[in-house]
Amino acid sequence: MCASGNASGASTRTSGSDVLVIGGGIIGLVTAWRAAQRGLTVTVADPAPGGGAAQVAAGMLAAVTELHYGEQTLLGLNLASAARYPAFVGELEEASGRDTGFRSCGTLAVALDSDDRAHLRELHALQERSVLESVWLTGRECRRLEPMLAPGVRGGLRVDGDHQVDPRRLASALLTACERAGVAFRRTTAERLTVGGGRATGAALGDGTEFAADQVVLAAGSLSGRLAGLPPELVPPVRPVKGQVLRLTVPPAYAPFLSRTVRAVVRGGHLYLVPRENGELVVGATSEEMGWDTTVTAGGVYELLRDAHELVPGITELPLTETRAGLRPASPDNAPLLGPTALPGLLLATGHHRNGVLLTPVTGDAMADVLTTGELPEPARPFAPGRFGPAAPVLQEQPV
Ligand SMILES: Cc1cc2nc3c(=O)[nH]c(=O)nc-3n(C[C@H](O)[C@H](O)[C@H](O)COP(=O)(O)OP(=O)(O)OC[C@H]3O[C@@H](n4cnc5c(N)ncnc54)[C@H](O)[C@@H]3O)c2cc1C
Repeated sequence: MCASGNASGASTRTSGSDVLVIGGGIIGLVTAWRAAQRGLTVTVADPAPGGGAAQVAAGMLAAVTELHYGEQTLLGLNLASAARYPAFVGELEEASGRDTGFRSCGTLAVALDSDDRAHLRELHALQERSVLESVWLTGRECRRLEPMLAPGVRGGLRVDGDHQVDPRRLASALLTACERAGVAFRRTTAERLTVGGGRATGAALGDGTEFAADQVVLAAGSLSGRLAGLPPELVPPVRPVKGQVLRLTVPPAYAPFLSRTVRAVVRGGHLYLVPRENGELVVGATSEEMGWDTTVTAGGVYELLRDAHELVPGITELPLTETRAGLRPASPDNAPLLGPTALPGLLLATGHHRNGVLLTPVTGDAMADVLTTGELPEPARPFAPGRFGPAAPVLQEQPV
């Protein structure tokens, strides 16, 4: 553990560990768990660990249906993480004694009109060029798979490899696994990064103490750029993208309402319905640039219900049990920032945007590797934080 003083020379430091993780969302927790498994002493600072965007997220593991033009480099990381998911949840469930709600049910992406159909055809072509598995279905074939779909569905893509997990249960399993692996928690905010001798030395915490660490991982989600004490050129370019989500309940008499995740582009907006085995049906999500606002608006709920009703008319019969908004931590290229910064001792694990749940396994492995060896492993190398600035310690390939 680092024993050097901080820049101000203050001596209020009370404790320390090899690694301090700032932020206990799923990304901070998986980093902490994996690092502790490698023998490092780890502390997580967060007033509410296990909270964050995972309390809102749908939990689609959608490497194939989330493919976008220009994001082929991210696709590689998404696929690497999707491939790790079954073993990852197996290990996590054993370590925590908790179920994560992982479900290998596949996804159906459908089109409601000729514009949507053309858009889906383009996505299918891109998937084929990227050697991804997806099957084009007629509207009738879609409805045979999912009889609750609207009669007007014009066609769709069946993607058997895009699964789902319950992000709330994932977060709670990670929290327990961390505790069992010896990760310590400081239930307070990190107010300021401390720097001394040309390196990060820890953080000043909201409870008035200072915490010392050899390595500090900034994993504060959409707030990652707001930590005081960061050298200005190293402030991560992460911004909040608001998403409103509804939760409904499928009564046993209606089950199975949907057997797999169903998604569509309706009026240019992305809509999805994610059915869980426990009867929960998640309907999402808006995508809004509203700063850190998490108000649920009548307009957001209206749009989601209107579009969901167009796709699956029977949805209006179901009890609406929850409305909530969360913040995706978005980066300029929609890909995460992983690994060392130009300030020795400061690492980032943030910017996972709309794929943070999917990217949890690969992020944990990559961060544990870099914390123990100093090197980012292969699938994570294109995502080094330095790709956005001249102060890069390692200049990596730019995602295309
Ligand atoms: C509506 C919506 C739907 C989504 N759907 C999906 C999906 O289907 N599939 C998918 O893969 N991803 C999805 N995501 C994205 C995913 O949820 C996020 O990428 C992921 O949860 C981000 O995790 P994180 O740990 O980086 O950040 P967060 O979850 O934001 O956690 C950050 C944590 O840091 C803490 N913190 C902040 N500042 C400080 C500080 N100064 N000191 C200490 N702690 C601090 C906070 O309290 C919080 O606990 C969705 C997100 C939203 C909002």
